[in-house]
Amino acid sequence: MGHDWYLVRCKCGHSFGHRKGTKAKCTICGSNEVTNVQQFSDSRSLANAVSDANLPKELAKELSSRLESKSAIEENRQQGPVSIRERVRGTLRSATDDQGVLRISAIRRELDSAGLDAESWESIIGGAELEGILVRCSNDSWRWV
Ligand SMILES: [Zn+2]
Repeated sequence: MGHDWYLVRCKCGHSFGHRKGTKAKCTICGSNEVTNVQQFSDSRSLANAVSDANLPKELAKELSSRLESKSAIEENRQQGPVSIRERVRGTLRSATDDQGVLRISAIRRELDSAGLDAESWESIIGGAELEGILVRCSNDSWRWV
């Protein structure tokens, strides 16, 4: 049995299986600009590889956005502590609802869309409490002082 099966990746990022001798065409975008990633001797291993290649896409996306957040934070650090602070404040302001209340979910969402690490909300809120700009009003919400 030869290595007749290929795992290929399209330029759009979609991975799919392809049999030697046939024309590889992306099942998502229809492009045939594909790169061979790996060869397999049977269709079953190929099928596993294909689902492996496509399933963790969300995870990979999350990971890469996390990395981007980290580099964004790093960039800000290089610009000086004021700009990140201003950025965080801006984020907290956009996370404030009509009642002037900030909730964890909104804070995380805004941090995320600002390219900041959403997981750092706790230290951000903690810092804001220490600075006396926010005061906790329930388990998961804060108000501006
Ligand atoms: Zn494609």
